[in-house]
Amino acid sequence: MPLSLHDEIRALHRAVIALARQERSTEPDASRRSPEAEQVGETSRAEDATSKGLSAMASRTLPTELRKRFEKIQKKLNSRKPGAPRRDLGRELAELMEPLASANWAEDLMAKSLAALPGVGPKRAEGFARRGIERINDLLFWLPTRYEDRRRVVGVGELEVGRSATFLAEVKAVQWVSTRRGGRFGKIFQAIVGDDEAVVTLKWFRGGEMLGSQVVKGRWLLVSGEVRRYRFSKELIHPEIESVPSPVAVTDGDTDEDGERLTGDSIDAAKRESLGRVVPVYATPEGMNPRTLRRLIGQSVDAYADLAIGHLPAWLIRERELPSVPDSLRALHRPGSGVDVEEYESFASPAHERLVLEELYLLELGLAMRRAQGASRPGVAIDSSRPESRIAAMGLPYRLTGAQRRVVGEILSDLGRASPMNRLVQGDVGSGKTVVALLAAVAVTACGGQTALMAPTELLAEQHFRTLTKMVADAGEGMHLRIGLLTASLSRAEIKAVRGLLAMGELDLIVGTHALVQGEVVFRNLVLSIVDEQHRFGVMQRAALSAARPDGRFPHRLVMTATPIPRSLAMTLYGELDLSIIDELPPGRKPIETILLRAGEGQRVMDLIRDTLDRREQIYVVYPLVEESEKMDLRSAVESAEQIARAFPGHKVDLVHGRLEAAERQAAMERFSSAETSILVATTVIEVGVDVPGATLMVIEHAERFGLAQLHQLRGRVGRGGDRGQCVLVARGSSEKSEARLRSMTATGDGFKIADADLEIRGPGDFLGTRQSGHLPELRIADLLRDVHLVSVARECARKTIEEDPTLEATPTTRRAVRKRWGKRIDLTAVG
Ligand code: ADP
Ligand code: MG
Repeated sequence: MPLSLHDEIRALHRAVIALARQERSTEPDASRRSPEAEQVGETSRAEDATSKGLSAMASRTLPTELRKRFEKIQKKLNSRKPGAPRRDLGRELAELMEPLASANWAEDLMAKSLAALPGVGPKRAEGFARRGIERINDLLFWLPTRYEDRRRVVGVGELEVGRSATFLAEVKAVQWVSTRRGGRFGKIFQAIVGDDEAVVTLKWFRGGEMLGSQVVKGRWLLVSGEVRRYRFSKELIHPEIESVPSPVAVTDGDTDEDGERLTGDSIDAAKRESLGRVVPVYATPEGMNPRTLRRLIGQSVDAYADLAIGHLPAWLIRERELPSVPDSLRALHRPGSGVDVEEYESFASPAHERLVLEELYLLELGLAMRRAQGASRPGVAIDSSRPESRIAAMGLPYRLTGAQRRVVGEILSDLGRASPMNRLVQGDVGSGKTVVALLAAVAVTACGGQTALMAPTELLAEQHFRTLTKMVADAGEGMHLRIGLLTASLSRAEIKAVRGLLAMGELDLIVGTHALVQGEVVFRNLVLSIVDEQHRFGVMQRAALSAARPDGRFPHRLVMTATPIPRSLAMTLYGELDLSIIDELPPGRKPIETILLRAGEGQRVMDLIRDTLDRREQIYVVYPLVEESEKMDLRSAVESAEQIARAFPGHKVDLVHGRLEAAERQAAMERFSSAETSILVATTVIEVGVDVPGATLMVIEHAERFGLAQLHQLRGRVGRGGDRGQCVLVARGSSEKSEARLRSMTATGDGFKIADADLEIRGPGDFLGTRQSGHLPELRIADLLRDVHLVSVARECARKTIEEDPTLEATPTTRRAVRKRWGKRIDLTAVG
């Protein structure tokens, strides 16, 4: 294997330092002078190594700063007369070389602002910055999104409309044409180019002035771009061009590189061969010429790729036969003519694998460290073998499903451990997560501990409070649990009272919103903190609820979510959590019939509402409420409520939305719960967790504006009482894509399948967008979905590394890289 740049520089460093030492010790006043003969031998060895190292450096393309440094060293050495060592030479040499001994010099160089690159001025740097490319490093890892295959160079006669092509052509005529487009005058620069067989027009609406020197009659060009039809001829708009020496100028009798004689025809073929390349295509900052970007990236790859460091352990690199990071960068940015474009575009080449694994490895190292730190913290073990939970389960009006029993068991066994639990319970809507939380709270209470349950909305907190209070009351002797509610819309006096009770240990279970983590909420003995639908909380809020107790120990943490995420993904997204899945719905649930209607089918909606009312069942009508169009959305919800009330006199209609006072909202929910109102018109506040068994029809307006997972959760609100549920999705002005999404809702009731469909249609970025934000470091290259098989490789590898070296002491460079990637998030240990 050839030496890497880093190896070479290390060797050079050793040589120069040895040389420097020699120089110094030959100073006249040096006391510890070695015998003359040995001296000479060593000097020449060090000298030899130095000049070898320097000439190796000279043959490389290096960043300016490095090149200058080596040139200076070379100059110093050249100015030195043999046999007459200069006093200061040793010191100067050492000073020049010393910075390269530090572990971060390469990192520092790559972390330099883009402005350090020739060709990048303040304006370009700004354009880059808007794309998040600020440092040389960023540019180096800005991978092509596509590759243009210009290996096949066709004749002009072969051009096909609608396809991209690369061809050689001679400029036959050039002209400026005045036009009027959209009432504005403009000038188009156009050129007629062609070969022996056909001609085609090239057009530039802007930037023609810059092409004047290149696009000259008689010149030959290599042209690439998409061929379009214009009236009866073909044209290319803003094609990429490259001047090439005229093939006609090469006359018969010339020889090619191998000395073979070329004839007219074969010249053309050979020329075409050598011209055709695979060209990387990048996402380009606005206003930047793609060619300029390609050139800048190419240059920085030439000069900086060798500085890039890999972090993967050597055994993994060997095992998977991965190319080095510098080689990978070169392979992707400067693809050879033999590459498999398809493999490249699907990020499946060995070079991609190396870079993706590098990134995932740093991600998984952070997760593993966070996890390890969490596990090493002091927790509060309770005696989870006590019978209270089991007895409480028997007092329920139903039997737990097998999945619920299993998950409760997993939680109880965690609660019995001395290190804090960190567990994610994932279960589809209606799978019965609430009762699982309750049974955990019962076990904690039995041991004198307190439980906090945090919900994302007041409505949901209030609903949890009511449900839990009722369950406890109904269970009678089986359950002793004093439950409180804490939300921001309670009166000051109430809040004060609840806080007092919590502090004195007079409450066993407190249900609330983020009000639980605001102000001075003091627990007497918080043992378990539960967060429902955690993706709706910010990192800090989640962190606060499981922060250390006054005695320095950490409460157990349970996170519940209905958002179906493929297991492999969940492992990374919630990487520091153990996973429990409730993969079974309570018996007797009937699938919800989902009907897709379009604007103009309002009568069918009204008919369905009437049928439902006739069966004495209840109805939700849901309106989207998004910030951008909040006022309008609210107005349409209000109008709809009025319209429905007019259409069904004799039935009570209520309206709930986030702007209502909590008391009003709660009163409305209670009226709906007790079936006093038949129809509830609501904005998405009912989305998560509301449970009204009498509701069997849900109408969702503007269904196209909801995510699939959201729709799935919404429709999980109906048909909870054992009656069959119906869900009507009304799509208004939807696109083909959103139609496809909505259709998949009618096809399956399985949350995981819907999540997959959502992924497929919306793409991973959107799907993970909100959930990932703030939780994990940004990924530049890797994609948790596309690269899911590498995620597990990286995780396994990171686990091994952390097991052997929990704080990465042995690999400071890697530790620094993890730090950099994770930023503050890594310090929020085990709570993110
Ligand atoms: P989610 O998982 O969506 O939070 P909930 O906890 O709200 O689900 O439960 C949904 C409904 O199912 C509730 O009405 C609850 O009483 C009921 N339920 C929960 N577990 C069972 C069970 N094992 N058998 C029957 N019904 C159950
Ligand atoms: Mg729930």
